[in-house]
Amino acid sequence: MTAGALSNSKPKQVNIEEVVQKARDTFNRGVTRPLAWRRQQLKNLLRMYEENYNVMVDALQKDLRRSKMEAVLLEVDYLINDLKSMLHNLDEWAKPEHPSKGIVNMLDEVVIYHDPYGVALVIGAWNYPLQLLLLPMAGAIAAGNTVIVKPSELSVACAQFVVDYLPKYLDNDAVQVVEGGPAETTELLKQRFDYIFYTGGTAVGKIVHAAASKFLTPVTLELGGKSPTYIDSTANLEFTVKRVLWGKFINTGQTCIAPDYVLCTKEIQDKFVEIAKKVLKEWYGENPQKSPDLCRIVNSRHFNRLQALIDASKDKIAIGGEYDAQDKFIAPTIITNVRGSDKVMEDEIFGPILPIVPIENAYDAIKFINDREHPLVLYVFSNQSSIQTLFREQTRSGSLGINDTVMFYGDIGMRLLLTEPGVASTSTLSIWRDNGQSLVREKPLVMYVFTKDKAVLSTIVDSTSSGGMCVNDTMMQMGVETLPFGGVGYSGVGAYHGKATFDTFTHKKSCLIKNFSPIGEKLASSRYPPYTDGKLNF
Ligand code: NAD
Repeated sequence: MTAGALSNSKPKQVNIEEVVQKARDTFNRGVTRPLAWRRQQLKNLLRMYEENYNVMVDALQKDLRRSKMEAVLLEVDYLINDLKSMLHNLDEWAKPEHPSKGIVNMLDEVVIYHDPYGVALVIGAWNYPLQLLLLPMAGAIAAGNTVIVKPSELSVACAQFVVDYLPKYLDNDAVQVVEGGPAETTELLKQRFDYIFYTGGTAVGKIVHAAASKFLTPVTLELGGKSPTYIDSTANLEFTVKRVLWGKFINTGQTCIAPDYVLCTKEIQDKFVEIAKKVLKEWYGENPQKSPDLCRIVNSRHFNRLQALIDASKDKIAIGGEYDAQDKFIAPTIITNVRGSDKVMEDEIFGPILPIVPIENAYDAIKFINDREHPLVLYVFSNQSSIQTLFREQTRSGSLGINDTVMFYGDIGMRLLLTEPGVASTSTLSIWRDNGQSLVREKPLVMYVFTKDKAVLSTIVDSTSSGGMCVNDTMMQMGVETLPFGGVGYSGVGAYHGKATFDTFTHKKSCLIKNFSPIGEKLASSRYPPYTDGKLNF
């Protein structure tokens, strides 16, 4: 199959099978294995970033109307810092591990070697088009793999940068670029890879996972989802509002870890809006469309999707709501008194719209987060009528059973059990299918919590599941390179950043190295037949 490879104007035709075969041949020749080769490639990549700093900033400006500050902070400097750290740590990360060993292996060596997988495929997304493609690519090279990168077709200028510049700096036999959209990616996915690293939406993530499973290829899937933000009355609201709005409106909300929606009491909601009005005016002026600091929506399809969300929430808009299709501009928008059933709560927003959902307390918030998948049947075990009423009124399910274990259609029934009946604490809730498997809950990429109350925090930590968490801020967890970043459930598989990126592209090969010492042989000789009881008791 041939596919278009990006070049200046006319896409060059490439044969995908040949591209993959070339990557495999290069790996099989052992080119990428020596640390010296890896180090040289990473140094070349660093030089590419440093020599073309402004070209990268310009490409981001063209694709998303990114301000220089956001381009540098979130992509160019981010890539440079990550690469410097990778170069600094490469020898240490690549060294074989020597785990502890038992008395039986006293005289032996127990080693974990760090093997490259082989041929890696990295598929990028358009919202951080350089960082999300080139950072995992660097990890694949550092771990000794050959790599094929597929930039997103939607961020055209950044894809062009990758096509034009990577071949000038990196070993063309080991690092190749394939251009294209769904058709080309589908063709790529028919090939056998040794590792696939995909960033993008959950729907395509499932396609990638299915394609990988044909060859039992391990994957990292960096996906999305609705990341909730809980704010309670102990949080410093002035700081909180700024931190939430920054995380939401950076890149105009087109960020996988943007706070998707806020859960707080009505009282906090009102104060939040009051402060947000002041902050947004200070940041973006009277007319945010004129601000140089707000990006644009990547294309008309995404613009229309976001416009429909605003139109469906017209009566609830507290701030913003303006849009201009010609300019692909959407004003920072806050929607209040949102309910779980509102359109804006259906899917990940991925744009500058922040819904606030009023709740009563932390338990209510936990329930809201955990209830995003609707079970067929809910069973509630509780002596308290207030708890029974709470669940009757506040849960959505096909049926509800109270204090009974009646099964509906065999094992498809689900039970919601208060493990300590009568204790009105959601932290003691456990949910499972009758066949013993966990009920699948929505698991967001990130859970944001703003509170000074340690008890509230620990309840939320224990009672919710998410890829990661950030407390009293948004987005900043990304800057901590010792924190692996990734999702769980529908928000992703695997994690990277810092050493975790190197580990992602590394197969840990366990090895026992026995000795030939006569004492060792004697100690282990009881394993040989004939198997007598005496040997068993030895
Ligand atoms: P997308 O899934 O539409 O596209 C991602 C990649 O998949 C692109 O390279 C595209 O060409 C390819 N693709 C698209 N359709 C395909 C198909 N049918 N078959 C095979 N390949 C196909 O995602 P997107 O719109 O680019 O990104 C938005 C989503 O990505 C959001 O949900 C966001 O949260 C998520 N995201 C996650 C992270 C993360 O690090 N976890 C980062 C950025 C974006």
